[in-house]
Amino acid sequence: MDRQAALARVRSAERIVIKIGSSLLLDPDGRGLDEAMLQRLAGQIMFLREESRQILLVSSGAVALGRTRLHALAKTKDSADGASLRTRQALSTIGQPLLMQRYAELFREKGIPVAQLLITARDFRNRRSYLNIGHTIESLIRSGALPIINENDAVSTAELQFGENDILSAACAALFRAGLLIILTSVEGFLDGAQLIPFLSQITAKERRLARGPEGPGSGGMAAKIRAGELCLASGSALAILPGREKNIIADFLAGKEKGTLIAGPGGGKLSARKRWILYSMAHGTIDVDAGAARALAERGSSLLAAGIRQVDGTFFPGDVVGIRGPEGEVGRGIVNYSSREVQELAGRKSEEHAGLFVRGTEIIHRDNLVLSRGGQ
Ligand code: GLU
Repeated sequence: MDRQAALARVRSAERIVIKIGSSLLLDPDGRGLDEAMLQRLAGQIMFLREESRQILLVSSGAVALGRTRLHALAKTKDSADGASLRTRQALSTIGQPLLMQRYAELFREKGIPVAQLLITARDFRNRRSYLNIGHTIESLIRSGALPIINENDAVSTAELQFGENDILSAACAALFRAGLLIILTSVEGFLDGAQLIPFLSQITAKERRLARGPEGPGSGGMAAKIRAGELCLASGSALAILPGREKNIIADFLAGKEKGTLIAGPGGGKLSARKRWILYSMAHGTIDVDAGAARALAERGSSLLAAGIRQVDGTFFPGDVVGIRGPEGEVGRGIVNYSSREVQELAGRKSEEHAGLFVRGTEIIHRDNLVLSRGGQ
């Protein structure tokens, strides 16, 4: 599949999630919000809504905006990135209401009420709250409001954090069943040196390595965006990484102009609602498997059996979501039928020889409850 064919499908997306990052939202001096950028963003959202598309906005900016207001905290330099998790949490509580206030004013002029949803990874782990977030978004969309989502930084803990809104936005795209996620960034797109990569239908070790490249201002934090791309490929949405400062960039992209990077798979086989949840639900632990088991899962559509399991990390119980890791990294995740202690006990054993131990069936994770991290389900 090429960009043209992928774009033809993406263009018809009724539901679009747009993510905008702090580097675009704050003015270049970092003194406050960039009003021109906000106007451009609002204009593009209005354009898409007028085309009868349903839009969800994921907006960063709370921490950065808080930093402009609370100088005492902003100067606390207690970790490599200049602000520890606690400082960032405190700054987000200052910046978030200011951010929402500005969005509310901006869209009030256009007759659109905005709604704030602050989400943590813990909310996504719990299936009931996950479904509730989905219901709330559906009601808001039906009523014509614009839902604006951010991570609830103030209550997130280090282990249970999306951390990057790029990942949160991919999770929201899956929950919202959006055909397209647009990440607006401060760079041209995904670059190989100075060369823009216009289209990717899969993400391999090469792209992952390239995305990890020299981070820092101007790189656009590409590693998280490419990870978001992988998640989108796995769940059946497309991702466009677009240069957010360009006027009418979204309309131009949808009209077929060669802008930004489009990441889209062959489509079709979209994941079921439950599998989308498994993909984004933070894992309670990890099961390490050998190369043979990793291949059987990725290539042959098998369930996870005990024989290929080497090791167990973390504490989990039947019904929890756990990650599956092969020698070359994460293979997938799924709902486990046994507790971490039981899996430890069963690891490496063949079910034919130890039938009595497999009280809940021979599958440690059944195929129906298993999602591959890199797509190709
Ligand atoms: N939630 C953070 C904020 O609003 C941003 C995280 C991110 O940009 O990835 O400031």
